[in-house]
Amino acid sequence: MPERDEMMKAAVFMGPERMEVKEVPKPKCGEGEVLLEVKACAICGTDGRIYFHGQKNVVPPAILGHEIAGDIVEVGDGVEGYSPGDRVTVVTSIGCGHCGYCAKGLTNMCPDSKAIGYHYSGGFAEYMVVPAKGVRQNAVIKLPEGMPYEEAAMVEPLSCCINGQRYLNIAAGETVVVIGAGPIGSMHLMLAKTADAGKTIVVDIDDKRLKMVERFEPDRIVDGRDGSSVEKVMEETGGLGAEVVIVACGSHQAQMDALRMAAKMGRVSFFAGLPKDRPTITFDSNLLHYREISVFGAYASYRAQFVEALELISPAQGGAKIEAAKVITHRLPLERIVEGIVTTKKGEGLKSVIDFTGEYGT
Ligand SMILES: [Zn+2]
Ligand SMILES: [Zn+2]
Repeated sequence: MPERDEMMKAAVFMGPERMEVKEVPKPKCGEGEVLLEVKACAICGTDGRIYFHGQKNVVPPAILGHEIAGDIVEVGDGVEGYSPGDRVTVVTSIGCGHCGYCAKGLTNMCPDSKAIGYHYSGGFAEYMVVPAKGVRQNAVIKLPEGMPYEEAAMVEPLSCCINGQRYLNIAAGETVVVIGAGPIGSMHLMLAKTADAGKTIVVDIDDKRLKMVERFEPDRIVDGRDGSSVEKVMEETGGLGAEVVIVACGSHQAQMDALRMAAKMGRVSFFAGLPKDRPTITFDSNLLHYREISVFGAYASYRAQFVEALELISPAQGGAKIEAAKVITHRLPLERIVEGIVTTKKGEGLKSVIDFTGEYGT
């Protein structure tokens, strides 16, 4: 048996609906690598999908978790610029390091991109290693002094929203509709406000989420359960439609509605993916043609967007533009990770954070 200090507690994904929180060997810090003591790791909608259905890049036994904040406890040979004690977060997408996308820093688009919490062990464990390739790509990002770990765990999801909105070029005064009032929709709403969006409208079909989104003060909350969300948005915009529509839920209907509620020259983000066994929608293609509507995708994020997200949540100067803690509704110890995943899936909370410090309560 290894010594206790060579072991750590981890939530190990063993296959669909099988998560075991148990002692496993603590990872060793190899050459070029960095070893982190995880302090907070938030649960993503994707973690829930992996837990319930599995995922091709996640081979059990696996440790999930990619919304990470922690302390460096060891640096491997050859690592420069980092030291034990540094408080950090980690970029999820690790690129090959030599393709055209990687050359531009777009590791999320690298054909050989590998992700922390999927291909590599993630943050639902007391310790995790950042692979050497990631360290070379500066995937380890130091946190501003005093930034709470749980807020730092919100940097990854916000960076993904930044990636989605970079295509939308939201201008001051423009009407922005967000369909889906979950944690990601809420972050999109906050982010759109930092771009001085005019009227903000949030659409959802779930009671609890419609209620929870009030805290972010959108100008209008639309209950779409009766199928009238397009009409209601049209009403709110004098019949013109919204300049920007962001679909932050994996719904066929929401994607189709988004195209119908967009204004002429409107920009639409299909931010959330659809289930892979049913990824098709039908829509009137002439909507796009005559109304000059553009539709954009978004997948994960890259380092520069992590830095941007950090600056919004914890700026070097002035107050936070994004109050990240507002999205956190549950703080749980690692033992209760499945509860956190289920809470997220049922829409009973926004973000659940696994808290390794025990400082925040539940
Ligand atoms: Zn995520
Ligand atoms: Zn690459």
